[in-house]
Amino acid sequence: MISSHYETLGLNSDCSLEEIKKAYKEKLLSSHPDKIGDESSSVEVNKIQEAYKVLCDVNLREKYDESLKKQYKHQGFLGSGDGLDDYSLDEFYFNPAIMEYCMDCPRCHGKDGFHFSEETLEEHAQEKSKDGFQVFAQCSACSLWLKVNFDLAEEYEQV
Ligand SMILES: [Zn+2]
Repeated sequence: MISSHYETLGLNSDCSLEEIKKAYKEKLLSSHPDKIGDESSSVEVNKIQEAYKVLCDVNLREKYDESLKKQYKHQGFLGSGDGLDDYSLDEFYFNPAIMEYCMDCPRCHGKDGFHFSEETLEEHAQEKSKDGFQVFAQCSACSLWLKVNFDLAEEYEQV
């Protein structure tokens, strides 16, 4: 999978221009071929420069965000979910303060990028052909969709 410009710079999709500039400098320093003496890192530097060029330009960034959204949508949700990464509900933790299952986003690393309540699980769960259930969840930061698999717990059986 191709990484986004945000991933290249290790940023969230809602980051500020200052954060982009800072991340760019840091990434560039740590990836410079002269510094780590590795030819392959020049590819990395190109990616970093390309990412910076797009993200530091308000208009280019806007267009890029739009294309990302389309790309993420296209990656599966409007279908059977094929092509989405599978996750288990076991990888989420339950946050009692907001009564929701939470997980950091594997793509943008947004804290609790994924979160949903038991009600959401019950409403949107789809029975899989073989065993267990699945729901689709979307990252609130980068709009990544993924599939969350879980078994039918006893408490759901009356629903
Ligand atoms: Zn995300």
